[in-house]
Parts: sequence; structure tokens; C-alpha cells
Amino acid sequence: MTARPLPMKIKAHFAMVMNLDKCIGCHTCSIPCKNVWTNRTGAEYIWYNNVETKPGIGYPKHWENQELWKGGWVLKNKKPVLKAGGKIDKLTKIFYNPDLPQIDEYYEPWTYNYEHLTQSPISKQQPATRPQSLITGENLALKWGPNWEDDLAGAQVTAIKDVNFADLERQVYFKFQNVFMFWLPRICEHCLNPGCLASCPQGAIYKRDEDGIVLLDQEKCRGWRFCVSGCPYKKTYFNWRTHRSEKCIFCYPRIEAGLPTLCAESCVGRIRYIGIMLYDADRIKETAAVPDQELYPAQTSVFLNPHDPEVQAAATRNGIPDNFIEAAQRSPVYKLIDWKLALPLHPEFRTLPMVWYIPPLSPIVQVAEKSPDLGDLERLRIPLRYLANLLAAGDEAPVKLALRRLMALRAYMRSIHVEDTPAAPVLAEVGLNEALAREMYRLLAIADYQERFVVPTIRKEAEEDLFPERGATGFTPGSTG
Ligand code: SF4
Ligand code: SF4
Repeated sequence: MTARPLPMKIKAHFAMVMNLDKCIGCHTCSIPCKNVWTNRTGAEYIWYNNVETKPGIGYPKHWENQELWKGGWVLKNKKPVLKAGGKIDKLTKIFYNPDLPQIDEYYEPWTYNYEHLTQSPISKQQPATRPQSLITGENLALKWGPNWEDDLAGAQVTAIKDVNFADLERQVYFKFQNVFMFWLPRICEHCLNPGCLASCPQGAIYKRDEDGIVLLDQEKCRGWRFCVSGCPYKKTYFNWRTHRSEKCIFCYPRIEAGLPTLCAESCVGRIRYIGIMLYDADRIKETAAVPDQELYPAQTSVFLNPHDPEVQAAATRNGIPDNFIEAAQRSPVYKLIDWKLALPLHPEFRTLPMVWYIPPLSPIVQVAEKSPDLGDLERLRIPLRYLANLLAAGDEAPVKLALRRLMALRAYMRSIHVEDTPAAPVLAEVGLNEALAREMYRLLAIADYQERFVVPTIRKEAEEDLFPERGATGFTPGSTG
């Protein structure tokens, strides 16, 4: 992936890949995240990790529709500019932000009066309890939730409005024989060119130099909420109790200790991979300025080959620690992107996202097996155009290549395990060889914890002189009680 001569400004970045083929929609990932990071008053409606059913309009409603929410970047005079206007523009109308989803677009969080169920006196009728708003305490008529469309519930009403049906005859895909479904788990993308960061008039959002994690400084935030509108993935949230915004922190306290994020650790389907990517930070601006369908190849060209000795030397010169360089070489994310199996979510938002997805193949296997030439992708159950709109700014070619490679891999492994005769030619058709196919199979199907999560520890104490810091932290008045 190295694209230009050295020297360059090399940085390291944590990234994630999710294999949509393996997501079973169990929502297990959302629960530990919720319990650890957003189990507070004011954050009840906030899900740093949520799982949506596709097709669907998602959480918050219509988050992908930037004509509505005006998130992310657009090209103006061949330069990327914030769709909702830059910082100066925002300062002039700081008390007026029309591009903001309201609580109903997310959902009004609720609970139940469980005591009423367990402590009601014996009677002829079973006690019942109604949902109560966690914001007002009033009884609530439920109309929406974070996964209201689960397993296509109400798809005829809402999912039909999914923007990824652009250029498709959407009614056709809601007929019983044509309907399709898959799950899309989502976290903050920790973008290379974050719309949230650029939108904050307060400068409260920053990207960590050492690993690219995007964080929001609660002390600096004044609750203007322009980050909420500026993020096209709607992954910053406003806490109605603290009047501050907050967002996914990529579980940085765990990451620093060499552990994967909670969503990844707990994932039942083992769909998630975490690894380091080395990239050329000097090229972010020019990359975000290419035409829509060139964004995916342009972003891959920013990533650097960690096996290249020149890249390694330049990374060391740029202060990247050895354990990060070594982790980049073993990075499962690098492999999946390099093999052209993983694709970015909505690259046309121009934030250069760092959570990528392997397109789903499962619902089409029967067709795949009937089409050994791998050529008949048009007959697949999930329309290619839909996946292209989701993962490649409408360009079908990269989705086609990823799906053809996955199909070839299945056909090859089947030929080994079922027919006992390796069908190598099927691999050659899609530019693979047997050694590579076995490596892919291992990572996609049977990789263990250490292979799926290659997380180097951050040892600040080893690299910085912390002696002058002694006595600067510790107990503050009133903290000892
Ligand atoms: Fe910011 Fe995350 Fe949204 Fe990217 S996905 S713009 S990093 S909140
Ligand atoms: Fe999908 Fe894994 Fe989350 Fe389950 S835990 S919904 S398999 S991402």
C-alpha cells in the first residue's frame, strides 16, 4: 500500500474490521459497552455501540441521509469543506443549530416499575407494568428504540426509506421472495479526517497523536452540539444531564493495557478484528479531496506497508515505538484491507473512517455454489448496488472483488474438505493462490484471540521522563473522603 517516496509523516492508528458475514445480530457487543461507559443518568439513550438491521433507517433515524442531517464533508472548489459550514460559520449562528437529531430520532429511554411486578399483593390478575420515561418519569407509549427495526420489523414502513436503495427499485426488495437482511454493528469510526473534530467551535475534540483515537474533552465541551451534526455517522451524543457531548473512546484504558475494546472482546460471532495501521498523515487532506468513487482506493494508498524496511525506519524516525511497528506487521486489519476484503463504511462522507467492513455473503451461498464460475453476482440475494452504496460510494467493482474472493475461498475450502481435491484454479480467477487462501481461511474462520486482536500496550512511562510529574497529581482537597 506504500504509494510515494519517503520521508513522510508516519503515524500509527488503531483500526477495526467487522466481518458482516458472521454477525448474528445478538447485540452482545452493545451490552458491556453500555454497562461500562453509558450506564449514567443523561446517557440512557446513548449507545456507543449499536447494531442495526439492514435494510433500515437505523439509529438515530436516517443517520445516513446527509441531505437531512448535513454531516461530514463535501467537495467545494475541489476542496473538502464541512457540509454544514465551517467553524466561523458556526460561530455566527452558535445558538442555532438546525441539523440536530432530537430525542425522538434516537428514542426516549424507558424503564419499567419492576417492584410493582414483584411486590403486588396476590390477586386474580397478573400484575402488569407500563413503560416509563427515564427522562420525565411519565408513562410512555413506545414508538421507537435503538433497534426498533430488528430483524426487519416494520421494514415495509421504515426500511423502505433506506438511502442505500438509491438507483434500485426498492419496492422489489420487499416482496417476500426477494427480501434480504443482514446486521450492521456500528461504533465511532475514529476517522482520519473527523467531521466532529472540525465542527467543534470550542476545540474540545482531539485525535490522539500516538494511536489516532478520537476523544472529547468533557472539561472543554460547552454543549454546542455541532459535533453531533458534524459527525455523519451520528456517533457523538449529547448528555442531557451533564450538558456535555460524549462519544466512543475505543475503550482506551483497555487498549493502553493491550486489551481489545469491550465490543470486540465480547463479540459472540467473533466478527471483529483490531490492529494497527501505519499511515502517511501528510496525505489526509489530498485524500479527502478526490472524487467519490476514488475515495476507497485513495484511502488504502495512505496506508503504509509495515513490512517495508524503509517504512519501518521512517516510522522509527517519527517516534513510533517498536512494539507498534511490530504490531502493525501482525495487524489482522492490515491483512484484511490489503486482501481487498474489507471496505470503508460510506467513504463518500469523506471523514476517512477507520472501522471497515467485510461485505456479507451468507445469504447468497446457494447461488454461489450453483455458479462455480463466480461470475453471476447479479443474481445474489443482497443487491450488489446496495452494498456498493453502503461500502464503496456506489462503485460496485470493489464489492464485487471482495465477494468473488470470499466465494472462491469457500469453493476452495469445500473442495479440500468435502471433495478431497483442492480446486486451485478457482482461486486464480480472483488473483489468489493456495497459500494466501489458507491464510485467509485461518484469519476469517478459525483465528484465535491473539490473531484477531493485535493490540500493543502503550507504555508512556517507558518513553517519557515522568520524574518532574511527581507530586503534581494525587489527592485534591476533598478527594480523600
Ligand atoms: Fe468523529 Fe467518530 Fe463521527 Fe468520525 S465517526 S466524525 S471520529 S464521532
Ligand atoms: Fe454481531 Fe458480535 Fe455484536 Fe453479536 S456481539 S451483534 S455477533 S457484532
